[in-house]
Amino acid sequence: MFWDNYSETLDRFSLQKLQLELLRKTIRQAQHAPYYQTILSGAGITPESIRSLEDLRKIPFTTKDILRDHYPYGFLAVSRDDIVRMHSSSGTTGRPTVIFHTQHDIDEWSLLVARCMYMTGVRKSDVFQNMMGYGLFTGGIGFHYGAERLGAMVIPSGPGNTKRQIMLMREFETTVIHIIPSYALHLIKTLIEEGIDPKKELKLRIAYLGAEPHSEETRRRIEDALGVRAYNSYGLSEMNGPGVAFECTEQNGMHVWEDAYILEVIDPKTLEPVKDGEEGELVFTTLKREGMPILRYRSKDLAAVYPEPCPCGRTHRRITRIKGRTDDMLIVKGVNMYPVQIEKTLMSFPEVGSNFLIILDHKDYNDHMTIKVEVSSAMFTGDLKSLQNLRRTITERLRSEILITPDVQLVEPDSLPKSEGKAVRVIDNRHQWG
Ligand code: AMP
Ligand code: ZN
Repeated sequence: MFWDNYSETLDRFSLQKLQLELLRKTIRQAQHAPYYQTILSGAGITPESIRSLEDLRKIPFTTKDILRDHYPYGFLAVSRDDIVRMHSSSGTTGRPTVIFHTQHDIDEWSLLVARCMYMTGVRKSDVFQNMMGYGLFTGGIGFHYGAERLGAMVIPSGPGNTKRQIMLMREFETTVIHIIPSYALHLIKTLIEEGIDPKKELKLRIAYLGAEPHSEETRRRIEDALGVRAYNSYGLSEMNGPGVAFECTEQNGMHVWEDAYILEVIDPKTLEPVKDGEEGELVFTTLKREGMPILRYRSKDLAAVYPEPCPCGRTHRRITRIKGRTDDMLIVKGVNMYPVQIEKTLMSFPEVGSNFLIILDHKDYNDHMTIKVEVSSAMFTGDLKSLQNLRRTITERLRSEILITPDVQLVEPDSLPKSEGKAVRVIDNRHQWG
């Protein structure tokens, strides 16, 4: 069972031997998926042709675009009858990427999350309030199943409704929470406003922070205000979701569960591996997935592997905080989005001029998005009422595209700064890459 710590402390040699065995099995399974069938046979790859972990590099990378191109079933390696659940990534860039799971996949995933929670001190006796979004997004349900697997009592509160969250924490003596860091800061603000001292009036011990980048300073602030130990939790829907990499009680780097994923770190330009300690793009291969195995998935997340082993004794390598992305994906209030989604929406309005600017701030412990939009001269000289209507319609359309409500400000034509080269579309004042 996961709490015997056995697989977490396997020596590196045995761990790699296990990875090779599971990689071969994964390739055999992937051969059932239409996309991989073509790719693998084209590259002459069979389970037998993989003789060492090095041979993994013969397999082409998989990207989000490839997943999208083969939407919805091109990566499915089992019969549709065997799928028990689907998830999708939290962004809404056109076609979503969908991931299908069998019962076996859900069980393995739950076990990984349970391992993360157990590692950081959660036990059966704990009360776990899950303030992460439920639904297609993997953060909420992923942790929910993990906590149940561990035997803790789950309060599936989901995000928002802060006063109710506080009531639940008080009434049911919540000891562990899972929360988006920006929402944690908002929760703290509300607690202060309500005159509640979390350290005296709540029973919180642990907070899991995930889904978006945050700094060491944010972690310390949350720890100090709530009187908890806060742990960084990293995952992506293509690799199940939470439970890919997680901090141990050393709070110094996240262990990547290498008995479930092969981690490579590559230079995003040359695609060659970088040395431990050097920053690069994280690439993952699933080792336990049956419904939809994914080989060499380019996450676009940038981080480095710690060169030295962790003092906790676990042998699975650690990665740093996520330092940024190789693409321009933004994460606002925990929701992924791309500037191009905003551009597409704005440009569909004939009244909109040629330039716009997205400004991200962190105010009142919350992310704020302001979008300054140039309007056409005709519009600008028109009446106020139509400007107000336009602003309202643009806001509504943007909300349905990016799932959050930006503050739209209509400005005069040619009033926004123009850049000589690539347009500067985003000003991020949040300083959140830690
Ligand atoms: P999704 O597939 O919608 O769950 O989004 C996954 C993405 O969220 C990752 O590729 C990261 O960019 C981001 N993410 C998730 N967890 C963290 C974390 N702990 N720190 C920084 N970024 C994160
Ligand atoms: Zn450790």
